[in-house]
Amino acid sequence: MDPVLIDGRVVSAAVEARTREGVERLAEAGVTPGLAVVLVGDDPASQSYVNMKEKDCARLGIRSFDRRLPADTSQEELDAFIAALNADRDVHGILVQQPMPSHLDVERVVAAVSPIKDVDGFHPENLGRLMRGLPGHRACTPWGVMAMLDHYGIDPRGMRAVIVGRSLLVGKPMGLMLLERDATVTWCHSKTTDLAGVCRTADLLVAAIGRPRMIGPDYVKEGAVVIDVGINRTDEGLVGDVDFAAVAPRCSAITPVPGGVGPMTRAMLLANTVEAAKGAMA
Ligand code: NDP
Repeated sequence: MDPVLIDGRVVSAAVEARTREGVERLAEAGVTPGLAVVLVGDDPASQSYVNMKEKDCARLGIRSFDRRLPADTSQEELDAFIAALNADRDVHGILVQQPMPSHLDVERVVAAVSPIKDVDGFHPENLGRLMRGLPGHRACTPWGVMAMLDHYGIDPRGMRAVIVGRSLLVGKPMGLMLLERDATVTWCHSKTTDLAGVCRTADLLVAAIGRPRMIGPDYVKEGAVVIDVGINRTDEGLVGDVDFAAVAPRCSAITPVPGGVGPMTRAMLLANTVEAAKGAMA
């Protein structure tokens, strides 16, 4: 049987529709959600991400505050800048685009953003809240994967979930979110022995590695759900961490690349911004 194609464009549109409703309800209360996107330096890829986020905001009626700072901005200047955004009542969400110039301390910057405005979900308090099972902003990419599973009626409860990747951005929070939903979770990484064997135990396999098409059919159990977070630019264009053509026939459901997890991250950022604005009213 053909696998179900988990379509990130469909799910992100559904998430955006809910976000738009949230924006309309806030407007009735006289509040316009605001997202400040801070970009230090002139990295072209970051500039294009920031531009996309601003367009997303405009489409949904979220006010965006474009804050571009020179590459030689000092740590103290950036700290003061973030403190001003924390205090600004029109700004509900703050995102500091990564990567930053190397003289800036990422940990210090992440911690400087107020947890209630940390719509990226990277602040230690929000990660701690996830660990403790408390509400808080969730990291956008894994949170987007959870929205995809829910949209397609895939309940992680009782599933054996294997996540390849343990980054703070994706792999670690992904596993905690699946654990929160009663999956039995295993994390894998570059030191895992018999990676393919571990992956073959998975009912739900999440690849967040950054290695083009590394996950082949020998990593996948018949009937598994496969989520490909990877985005790799190759000579053949954008490809995931999963060898889609070879793996799809073994799966019950699978995400494509592009058009899978990719569109979800931006959609969840906007959803988190609206949640932050609602929280500021409470
Ligand atoms: P990182 O480089 O931070 O982490 C990669 C992880 O993969 C690490 O834990 C690493 O292990 C593990 N890994 C690397 N090589 C191997 C290997 N040969 N075998 C087993 N594990 C391995 O990447 P990110 O988590 O930030 O991103 C992962 C992928 O997801 C990338 O392709 C990225 O572009 C994509 N991405 C997509 C997003 C989206 O919106 N769809 C958003 C964010 C990321 P170790 O810890 O041991 O080094």
